Order: sequence, then structure tokens, then C-alpha cells
Amino acid sequence: MKLSELKTGEHAVIIRVTGHGGFRKRIVEMGFVKGQHVEMLLNAPLQDPVKYKIMGYEVSLRRSEASMIEVEPVSKTHAHPGDEVGTPYELLPCTEEEKIQQKHVDTSMKTINVALVGNPNCGKTSLFNFASGAHEHVGNYSGVTVEAKTGEAQFGGYTFKLTDLPGTYSLSAYSPEELFVRKQLMEHMPDVVINVIDTSNLERNLYLTTQLIDMHIRVVCALNMFDETERRGDQINYPMLSRLFGVPMIPTVFTTGRGVEELFKTIIDMVETNEDERPDYRHIHVNHGHSVEEAIDAVQKELKANPELKIHYSTRYLAIKLLEHDTDTVGIMHTVPNGKRILSTRDRAAAQIEEETGTDSETAVMDAKYGFIRGALEEAGYKTGNNKDTYHTTHTLDRFFTNRYLGFPIFFFLLWLMFECTFTLGQYPMDWIEAGVEWLGAFVSERLTDGPLKDMLIDGIIGGVGTVIVFLPQILILYLFISIMEDSGYMARAAFIMDKLMHRMGLHGKSFIPLIMGFGCNVPAVMATRTIESRRSRLITMLVLPLMSCSARVPIYIMIIGTFFATKYQSWVMISLYLIGMVMAIIMSRLFSRYLVKGDDTPFVMELPPYRFPTTKAIIRHTWEKGKQYLKKMGGIILVASIIVWALGYFPRPDADAQLLSQELQLEQSYIGQIGKFIEPLFTPQGFDWKLDVAIISGVGAKEIVASTLGVLYSNGNLASALTPLTAYCFLLFVLLYFPCIATIAAIKGETGSWKWAAFAACYTTLLAWIVSVAVYQVGTMILS
Ligand code: GDP
Ligand code: MG
Repeated sequence: MKLSELKTGEHAVIIRVTGHGGFRKRIVEMGFVKGQHVEMLLNAPLQDPVKYKIMGYEVSLRRSEASMIEVEPVSKTHAHPGDEVGTPYELLPCTEEEKIQQKHVDTSMKTINVALVGNPNCGKTSLFNFASGAHEHVGNYSGVTVEAKTGEAQFGGYTFKLTDLPGTYSLSAYSPEELFVRKQLMEHMPDVVINVIDTSNLERNLYLTTQLIDMHIRVVCALNMFDETERRGDQINYPMLSRLFGVPMIPTVFTTGRGVEELFKTIIDMVETNEDERPDYRHIHVNHGHSVEEAIDAVQKELKANPELKIHYSTRYLAIKLLEHDTDTVGIMHTVPNGKRILSTRDRAAAQIEEETGTDSETAVMDAKYGFIRGALEEAGYKTGNNKDTYHTTHTLDRFFTNRYLGFPIFFFLLWLMFECTFTLGQYPMDWIEAGVEWLGAFVSERLTDGPLKDMLIDGIIGGVGTVIVFLPQILILYLFISIMEDSGYMARAAFIMDKLMHRMGLHGKSFIPLIMGFGCNVPAVMATRTIESRRSRLITMLVLPLMSCSARVPIYIMIIGTFFATKYQSWVMISLYLIGMVMAIIMSRLFSRYLVKGDDTPFVMELPPYRFPTTKAIIRHTWEKGKQYLKKMGGIILVASIIVWALGYFPRPDADAQLLSQELQLEQSYIGQIGKFIEPLFTPQGFDWKLDVAIISGVGAKEIVASTLGVLYSNGNLASALTPLTAYCFLLFVLLYFPCIATIAAIKGETGSWKWAAFAACYTTLLAWIVSVAVYQVGTMILS
């Protein structure tokens, strides 16, 4: 029977995983291996995806994916997790030559480069923050850490250079993160890797450890979340497990700092001693069983014939990767002289494995690794307790948050609450800052003599940046909410319940989070798309992100809506803009996934971490990080853009003897006024005059500037009489949809790695804005006349 046919609460044992390529690999790596127990926990509100429990953690799969897993149902009383038989632990000898191969650390420099590697949500960033005191984001949603952050810590006379790497389940090159982590390890060669392990989820977490052992680098394991395992009553002889893996393992709790000192002491010990001087620090070979080991030997022999390869890589690691049909490693083989021979040996060895074990070599390697882990865990007397499970509270909460009827209402209520607080609570500090900026302008104006410098300071810098800084409180409140949702684990549930809808748009449940973040600022949102594993979903998400109305557009909305619409309609006009943006995003992503970006559908497979109470410190840090990003954007790009826009409007000056022009007339004859008038014909179909065109151009640097430009152009409060409400609304639509801002376009370039997609995003949004505003204007004029 298929896993998808399992009903709520039923248990089964996995027989095999069908399907192909990346999907299959990911599924197996996450623990769906032959002999494992699965339990079907619950359906998402729309009946898809489905939450399962495997290896003691919870994961969601789409029905279509679950149908590729063959299972045999078992009764609940029968199902004891841990029933599966492991490969009896048996040590494989390794050669002397291998032992000396490890990178030597120069201890005289007193610096140690340390990389943090581990599954998502195991606590890497918490350690990083605890040790380095750096302000780094801690998240409880798979893949919140999307780039390597570095920081320094001092301990025992050494400087530790810490690198916080993104969370990965393995080192196969399946997602951008995995490839990134692997490259970091191979190319930057840290002296020591701290493999952070979620101990309440030991079996799956150790999978990555076995891959690190293959790479033959210095590894120390932090058995993190040890508090949770103690509470549950787990038993494990971890000194024994350390010896079996040849890797020191130290129980830690990174939220309180327990075990951190010992962890650092161990690292120092490791760089100061040699392998084999400690019983838990030695080079072992993960025993893959007879057939696979024979194949590894055969391929390794060919690899060793090439001295170049031998210097740069662990040949055992390469051999294993080749048997896993790893694209990157196969690519390396195409560049070496004896590559052809190596690959043909690999093919023969792989065929041999298939003959002997009945599975392809890729699965055989993965199965064997899990077999080894089980064997070692048995040997170390691993037993999970059943006192108070970490998931106990989670199940109660999920009964509400992912409930068939309550799931969506709760979700939308939380979104509403988030925006409500952002705009109502944010108003107070906003008023204070506004008053402050005004005071500063007046203060500077009194002290300085008249001239271009004074004008630039007041109108260009204070005026331009001032209109932006007022939004800082709102940004902070918005990010406070997002941080709480992320850190508590709710965001993963949002992806879970939204997946079916997002899937219809050609996207992934995970696309939803970046899209929501886009309401704050498109720039970090574009960066957050790195959590999406499929390149296709990721690209489409980035392309439609600019349609999410970011908070920089809010000042324009407030200004225009406040001027043209009666108070009782104001909220509705505002909501309509957000909705139109979202509808456009849906339409565009459907079009893109249909016609533009081709490729496979993404497997959904997503871990649902238990709900954890976020620490105040982490929340404040996270929120402040985002606030800082916003300020940086303002300090840099927006400041420059403000000055340019100001200069374009300030020059040329009228002749010295001519009468001083009013501000408005000055703008009209200035460069920006000339540009605005030049392009006026382009925007007549939507009824914009040159002043609105000028505002649109000025918004290219940052949308906030549109508001301040309008403020200058219609300085005598004549905005209300200058436009009809229809034109004003079309202007809002244009501002909503057109060219996001330079920073966003640069972020898209950075993430896709090509100007092509960045240019595409810039062009299609502007074209869309033009078409939509013309359509609304023309239809509106017809109806109104
Ligand atoms: P990362 O994804 O590996 O960087 O994990 P994070 O550092 O973001 O941590 C994920 C969540 O686990 C956060 O909510 C942390 O507060 C929490 N956490 C981290 N370490 C521990 C620990 O030792 N015990 C407990 N109970 N929670 C922890
Ligand atoms: Mg992290």
C-alpha cells in the first residue's frame, strides 16, 4: 500500500521509496528508509499536504509525494520506534596514509577557524550568538539563516573565528544551501567543524555527521537541546557514542550556554593534539557493508592513481560521492586526465552493488549510513524516553493552528493583527520622529546662511531621509511580528496550510514567507527566497515579489488616500491596493510557471519543528537586525538618490539678476521638470501630468522619495485640486506595481546571479503598472461619464 493511503493515527513500516532523482534522495536522507516506522498525524486544512512522524520528528509531504512511498501497515501496539535493526557496529581499518592527510593547524597563530554545520533548527545560530555576542538572527523555521555570518569569540588564549552556515540535512548538492555549505567546507577548509545536533532527533541528525566523517575533517559534535532530551527521559551513553564515531560529543544547551565552555576546550584540545591521541578523536570509516565497501575500494584505487586528486580531496569521500552519482563530483572527474577510467570503474562498481543488494548504488549508500547509525546507537544503549515529549504541546497547538476549520481563520486573524498593530501602534512614535525631523530642519535653517548648501541639507538630506526614517517604527513592529512567528515555529505551519494554494500558483508553501516579508521590505524578502529548494519556484517567487506592497510605498498611499478619499473609504482603498498587488502576483506567477520558467515541480518535504517559546533576547536581536538593514538601505542608496533628485530639481538656477522663482516654478524649469515634461506623452493615457511623472522617476531610487517629491511639487497644498480621485487612484496603482527600487533589483541580480532576470523584473513590473493604470483609468472614465 502507499503512504498516502494511510489514515490519521495509523502506523506503517516503509518498504521502499519509488520516484526519481532529487525527490527520492531528499526523502531518503530525511529518514524515509526501508524498515522505518511512520505515523500519519494530520491533514492540512485543504487535505494536502499531510503531516507524518518519522524518526521522532515531524515532516510534511504532499499527497502526490507520499504516494511514491510504499509501506506496510502495522498496528500501533506493534510499532516501537527503534525496532528497525541496525548494522552491527564493526570497525573498518583505515590506512596510515589517510591518518596523516588531515589538515595541519598552526597553533602558534592562536586563531582557530570554526564552521558551524548542522540540520535546520538545531541551534547553530543560538551558539553563534551566545559565543560571539554578534547580533544574528535566530529562527525556528527551516532555513532562516541563508548566508554565512562570521563572528569572533575569545577562549583559552585562542581567537575563534566562527562561521554560521545555513542548515542542511546532508551534503549532497540538492539545495543551494547544501552546495554552499559543501563549497565552504571544501574550499575554505575550516580547522574544526562544530556539528550541531538536535539530540531529541539524534538518528536523523547523525546522518550529516557520517558525511562529515567521510570528508575526513576535524569534527566535534554538540549534542544540543540536551535539556529537551533529559525532560523526555532519553538514555544515551554519549561517551561511548563518541568513541564509536571517533568524534567528541558534548551535551549542550545553547539557550542557556550549558556545555559551551567544554565544547571550546575540546576544540583547543583537538587542534593541539593529533588524531588517535584521544579515544574519541580518531579517523574511522563509516561501515557501509560488504558490497558498498568493495565498490568504494575499487573506485578509490582509481582515484588514488591521480596524485592531484589525492592532495586536494579525501579519496574515500570522492568515491562515495561518485557512487551516489553526485553531479558536482562527476563534473570534477571530467576535468582530470584519468577521469574516464574512474567513471567507468564507478559504473561497473555501481552495477555490482545493484546486483548484490537489489537497490541502486545511491540508495544503497544512504541505507547503509542509516544502518551504521542504528548499529552505533544500539551499541551505545540509545533509548527514547516517554516522559514529556517535546511534541506534546505542539500537538495540542497544532490541533488549532492547522485545524480544518480554524486553520485559515487563525492565520488571517494573525495577519490582520500584525498589520493593525503596525499601523496603529506605529503612528505614535511616527509622530514623534516627524516632529523631531521638523525641529532639526528649523534648527539647521536658523544657523546657516542662505545658499545651495543650506538648501541641499534641508531639502535634500533632512527632507529626503526624514520622510523615510519616520517609517522605522512601523518596520520594527512588522518585523517584531514576523520574528515571533518565525522563532516560535508558526511560520512553518503557515507554509504547511498555504502549500496547496501556493502550489496552484506554481509556487511552494515556503514561497509564502518571503512573499509576506515582502510587505515589510522587498530586499530581505528576495534574500529569504534562498530557503526554497527548487530553482524554479525560487525564481518565480523573486520575480513576483515586487508586486507585494512594501512599506516604503505606505507614505505615498497615506498621502494620496488622505487627500482624495473620505475617511470611511480610506481603509478600503488601502486594502484594495494590497489585494490588487496579490492578485497580480497570482496571475503573473501562474503565467511565469506556465510559459517562462520551465523545470520540475518542487518536492514539498518540509520539517515541522516543535513550537518553542522564543527568547526575548533572540526576538529583539532579530527585529533590530532587520531595522538595521532598513536604516542601511536608507543611509546609502536612499541618501544618494535623495541628493540626486534634489539636485535635478534645484538646477539649473535662474540668472542672478532675475527674480527668485517660487519653489514650484523653479522645479518646473529644472532638469527633472524638463524630463517629466519630455515623458509626459507616455503617461497621458492614464491622465498623469508631468508632476506625477517627475514623482515616478524620483521613485526609482527608493519609493519613499515619491512622497517627498510630491510634497515639493504641490507645495502650496494644491494637490487636492490638481487631480481627480480617479487619476489619484491610478497613480497609486502605478506606484504599487512599477519598478520596485534599485536595491530590490540589485538583490534579484545578486540572488539569481544574472542581470537578465533583474532587468526582466524591472521591465515587466513597469509595463504591468502602465497597462493596469491605463485600463483602470479608461474604464473608470467611461463609467463615471
Ligand atoms: P539554527 O537553525 O540551527 O540556526 O537554529 P537556531 O539557533 O535558530 O535555533 C532554533 C530554535 O531552537 C530557537 O527557537 C532556539 O531558541 C531554540 N534552541 C536552540 N538551542 C536550544 C537548546 O539547547 N534547548 C532548547 N530547548 N532550545 C534551543
Ligand atoms: Mg540559523
